[in-house]
This record gives sequence, C-alpha cells and structure tokens, in this order.
Amino acid sequence: HIPVITIDGPTASGKGTVAAKVAERLGFHLLDSGALYRLTALSSMRAGVSLIDEHAVAQLAEALPARFANGDIFLGEEEVGAVIRAEEVGNNASKIAALPAVRQALYALQLAFRKAPGLVADGRDMGTVIFPNAKLKVFLTASVEARAERRYKQLIDKGISANMEGLLADLQARDERDTHRTVAPLVPAEGAYILDTSDMTVDVAVEQVLHWYSL
Ligand code: C5P
Repeated sequence: HIPVITIDGPTASGKGTVAAKVAERLGFHLLDSGALYRLTALSSMRAGVSLIDEHAVAQLAEALPARFANGDIFLGEEEVGAVIRAEEVGNNASKIAALPAVRQALYALQLAFRKAPGLVADGRDMGTVIFPNAKLKVFLTASVEARAERRYKQLIDKGISANMEGLLADLQARDERDTHRTVAPLVPAEGAYILDTSDMTVDVAVEQVLHWYSL
C-alpha cells in the first residue's frame, strides 16, 4: 500500500528530470533505475569483465555497492554521478541491460526502494516488470529529433562538443536495442498514460503527472 508512480520511456525523453521533480513535490523517494544499469556497466568496465559475459556481469550487479544520497551517486566510496552519464557508459549500460541474469540480479535491489511515504521510479520496465501494481504508470516519450536536440543542448551547456547527426544515430541505435530486446523490452505498461513531451516544458509535464496522480 505504499504508493508507487512509474515513469518509463526512451533515452533523453526527459523522464529523469520529470521523475525527480514529481518526487520532490510529493516528498517521495526516487529510484533512477538507469543509474543501476550504468553503475553495473561502469563496474564491469573497470573490472575488465567482458560485457557479453552474462554470468560475470550479473555477479557484479548482484553485489553492486551502489548508494544514493542527496542527488549524489556512489559506487563504493567514490561519487560517480558525472562519470556514469558519459555516452560510453550509457551505451554499455544498454548492452548489459539485455542480459536476463543482470536484470534478475538488480530486481530485489529495485524493490527495496519502495519505502513510505511513496516512490517515483524511472526507467524502462518500472511499470511492466518491477512495479506492475503501481498506482500511476506514465510512459513519457518525445520525438527522436526533440530528444537529440535536448541531449545536444545538455552537452553544449556542459562545454562538451557534440554532433547532432552522431547523437541522432546514437539515440536511434539505443532505442532499437531497448525496444527489440527479448527481456523487458521498452513498451508502455498496461494502463499507462502516454505523455508526449516533444512540445512541452518540464514544468507542464510535471503538472500533468501530478494531476493524473490526484485522480
Ligand atoms: O535511463 P538511462 O539512460 O540512464 O539508462 C541507461 C540504459 O539502461 C538504457 O539505455 C537501458 O538499456 C537500460 N535500462 C533498462 N531498464 C531500466 C533502466 C535502464 O534496461 N529500468
């Protein structure tokens, strides 16, 4: 009976930002499940584990020393919030996310985030697999062009040079992999509200989610 709001959607749809703001407004806990896949990818890269060695990657996921505190993300003692945002880590996260044993290893860890007074969980399979009984399920999306443009702006703002064509190709490849994998493919959960944010500000998207939650 602890309420859960799931926000699933493709890469760079803005779901992370929307989820964080909704959680803040409601005073709920936040689960950034993508960060767990990114941390597992980073762990594997550092341990020199092959990203197709399902058993070895799953073992790392099972014992993942992940900790979230005030917006910081720790792997063991090290704060890696910025490190795991790198495109390479994101791409590798999407590769290991296709391994069933890895998803299984992260399952219990994700359930443990459901604590009073409530949880906002963002990812790809929050409403379909992890919290199928959530009080509210949202599928947040945006056109690939809108998402590439947002990613482009984020990178430029951070002083990182970016190339629009490369970003588009990258997003499309990641979408393809996330949508067509056999385990937990990215699809709207049953009963999910679809929110297309292509022409919407973050604040309008947040108000929409809060409105649905209040129904
Ligand atoms: O959301 P984010 O871009 O941080 O996620 C990184 C990758 O982790 C995604 O491309 C996706 O393949 C994977 N992921 C997943 N299931 C989730 C969250 C993320 O498969 N619940």
